[in-house]
Amino acid sequence: MADHHGTPTHPKARKEHRCIYCGGPILVGEQYVQQEGFYDGAPYRNRYHAECYETCADECSYYGEWEFSPYNGEYPERVKAVVDQRRAAADAALLGA
Ligand SMILES: [Zn+2]
Repeated sequence: MADHHGTPTHPKARKEHRCIYCGGPILVGEQYVQQEGFYDGAPYRNRYHAECYETCADECSYYGEWEFSPYNGEYPERVKAVVDQRRAAADAALLGA
Protein backbone atom coordinates (compact mmCIF):
# COMPACT_ATOMS: atom_id res chain seq x y z
CA MET A 1 0.00 0.00 0.00
CA ALA A 2 1.29 3.46 -0.82
CA ASP A 3 2.26 5.78 1.97
CA HIS A 4 -0.60 7.83 3.18
CA HIS A 5 -0.60 10.72 5.59
CA GLY A 6 -3.95 11.78 6.94
CA THR A 7 -5.04 15.32 7.59
CA PRO A 8 -4.07 16.21 11.15
CA THR A 9 -6.84 16.49 13.71
CA HIS A 10 -6.82 18.50 16.92
CA PRO A 11 -8.29 16.39 19.70
CA LYS A 12 -8.14 17.20 23.40
CA ALA A 13 -6.03 14.82 25.48
CA ARG A 14 -8.17 12.65 27.75
CA LYS A 15 -5.05 11.10 29.20
CA GLU A 16 -1.44 12.10 29.06
CA HIS A 17 0.40 11.39 25.82
CA ARG A 18 3.96 11.76 24.70
CA CYS A 19 4.89 14.16 21.94
CA ILE A 20 6.59 12.33 19.07
CA TYR A 21 8.71 15.35 18.31
CA CYS A 22 10.12 16.54 21.63
CA GLY A 23 9.29 13.53 23.80
CA GLY A 24 7.68 15.77 26.40
CA PRO A 25 4.30 15.19 28.03
CA ILE A 26 1.07 16.29 26.37
CA LEU A 27 -1.05 17.09 29.38
CA VAL A 28 -4.61 16.02 30.06
CA GLY A 29 -7.02 18.60 28.65
CA GLU A 30 -4.43 19.98 26.25
CA GLN A 31 -5.35 20.33 22.61
CA TYR A 32 -2.73 18.53 20.56
CA VAL A 33 -2.16 17.56 16.95
CA GLN A 34 -2.79 13.98 15.94
CA GLN A 35 -1.83 12.56 12.59
CA GLU A 36 -2.60 9.08 11.41
CA GLY A 37 -1.59 7.31 8.26
CA PHE A 38 0.41 4.52 6.66
CA TYR A 39 4.17 4.57 6.33
CA ASP A 40 6.19 1.68 4.92
CA GLY A 41 3.07 -0.45 5.00
CA ALA A 42 2.44 0.08 8.70
CA PRO A 43 -0.21 2.25 10.29
CA TYR A 44 1.06 4.97 12.56
CA ARG A 45 -0.43 7.53 14.86
CA ASN A 46 1.71 10.47 15.87
CA ARG A 47 0.85 13.03 18.50
CA TYR A 48 2.48 16.42 18.75
CA HIS A 49 2.28 19.50 20.87
CA ALA A 50 0.70 22.21 18.72
CA GLU A 51 4.00 24.14 18.80
CA CYS A 52 6.04 21.06 17.96
CA TYR A 53 3.88 20.28 14.98
CA GLU A 54 4.50 23.76 13.64
CA THR A 55 8.24 23.55 14.28
CA CYS A 56 8.34 20.16 12.64
CA ALA A 57 6.35 21.34 9.63
CA ASP A 58 8.75 24.28 9.27
CA GLU A 59 11.84 22.09 9.40
CA CYS A 60 10.38 19.42 7.18
CA SER A 61 9.33 21.91 4.53
CA TYR A 62 12.92 23.16 4.60
CA TYR A 63 14.23 19.68 3.87
CA GLY A 64 11.39 18.87 1.50
CA GLU A 65 10.24 15.73 3.30
CA TRP A 66 8.44 14.82 6.46
CA GLU A 67 11.27 13.23 8.35
CA PHE A 68 12.70 13.84 11.79
CA SER A 69 14.18 11.93 14.71
CA PRO A 70 11.43 11.17 17.20
CA TYR A 71 11.85 12.57 20.71
CA ASN A 72 14.83 14.67 19.60
CA GLY A 73 13.19 18.06 19.26
CA GLU A 74 13.47 20.86 21.76
CA TYR A 75 10.79 21.17 24.41
CA PRO A 76 8.58 24.23 24.03
CA GLU A 77 9.14 26.53 27.05
CA ARG A 78 5.91 25.59 28.82
CA VAL A 79 6.66 21.88 28.41
CA LYS A 80 10.20 22.34 29.64
CA ALA A 81 8.79 23.98 32.76
CA VAL A 82 6.59 20.94 33.43
CA VAL A 83 9.46 18.52 32.84
CA ASP A 84 11.82 20.51 35.08
CA GLN A 85 9.22 20.65 37.79
CA ARG A 86 8.63 16.89 37.63
CA ARG A 87 12.35 16.23 37.64
CA ALA A 88 12.77 18.40 40.72
CA ALA A 89 9.89 16.59 42.43
CA ALA A 90 11.42 13.21 41.56
CA ASP A 91 14.80 14.35 42.91
CA ALA A 92 13.16 15.61 46.09
CA ALA A 93 11.39 12.26 46.52
CA LEU A 94 14.68 10.43 46.08
CA LEU A 95 16.46 12.66 48.57
CA GLY A 96 13.66 12.21 51.05
CA ALA A 97 13.72 8.41 50.78
ZN1 LIG B 1 6.41 18.43 21.81
